[in-house]
Amino acid sequence: MDRSELIVVALGGNALLRRGDKGSFEEQYRNVGDAAKYLADIVEAGHRLVITHGNGPQVGATLLRHDAGQKLHSIPAFPMDACGAETQGFIGYIIQQNLRNELKRRGIDKYVITVVTRVIVDKNDPAFSNPTKPIGPFYTKEEMEKIKAEHPEYVFVEDKARGGWRRVVPSPDPKIIAERHAIRKLVDEGFIVVASGGGGIPIVEENGRAYGVEAVIDKDLAGEKLAELIGADRFIILTDVDGAYLNYGKPDQKKLEKVSAAEARRYLEQGHFGSGSMLPKVLACIRFIEAGGKEAVIAELSQFKEALAGSAGTHFTP
Ligand code: ADP
Ligand code: MG
Repeated sequence: MDRSELIVVALGGNALLRRGDKGSFEEQYRNVGDAAKYLADIVEAGHRLVITHGNGPQVGATLLRHDAGQKLHSIPAFPMDACGAETQGFIGYIIQQNLRNELKRRGIDKYVITVVTRVIVDKNDPAFSNPTKPIGPFYTKEEMEKIKAEHPEYVFVEDKARGGWRRVVPSPDPKIIAERHAIRKLVDEGFIVVASGGGGIPIVEENGRAYGVEAVIDKDLAGEKLAELIGADRFIILTDVDGAYLNYGKPDQKKLEKVSAAEARRYLEQGHFGSGSMLPKVLACIRFIEAGGKEAVIAELSQFKEALAGSAGTHFTP
């Protein structure tokens, strides 16, 4: 059994799509090809790796395709859980292919496998009575009312700044990664595993049976839960900024180099971190440390190696 250091890495949106990209398959394939080099460096250094990733723009596009398919060709649209599974599949594929090609090029005898991952959430999570996460396209008021007539359960909010209505879904807290045992086994057998993509497929268990729900789990919080449950040594969040800042965007902004979980929680409560962006990352790192993890890091994608060596990123420690 492989006992080298186990790292769970969460890839941000920039690993798949960059500013100015249109969202084509080729762009995403190429971007993942670039990210694969940073991932391969870590495998080459002898670490075991579990990779998770976001899917915001991808699942948004998938929902639109289903919508258009229904309108134009009468192909019934799939629910969100199935669309989430679709994105886990195609993103997992391009990570498998690019990372395996890069490892092969370097003569490394390691294989990459994707696990379609379900994440159990609590049906009584307060998020279900307060949906906050915007998904899919912007609609006019008439379009929105038409959809609402077909789906009275949908909740829409008006985004006055961007002039339109958008569907919002609950963003419940991840409780248990359903496939954790299988992921752990694959890791122990030496596989590099892609799991919990897009925060995982949210499911609820009731009377011993599980079913998918219309919700979105934050990918950093789900990645943390995965890291915790498979006993990862370190949890690394790679994004498009070189760390977590205090007073971000202000003239006196200051990058955090090394913080304790308690200190980070104080900064979080003081409102230093953007609610849909940096806050869940910082919270995920705090949770990992509080659950007994050794170290969590937020860093820029191209600085993965430096982040592990301690010379880049924001480091969270007990
Ligand atoms: P990802 O797709 O990698 O999950 P997000 O866009 O969700 O990335 O989060 C990264 C973004 O968080 C940065 O690009 C930055 O604009 C924003 N952000 C908000 N608050 C902070 C902060 N305090 N320090 C650093 N970045 C912050
Ligand atoms: Mg982003």
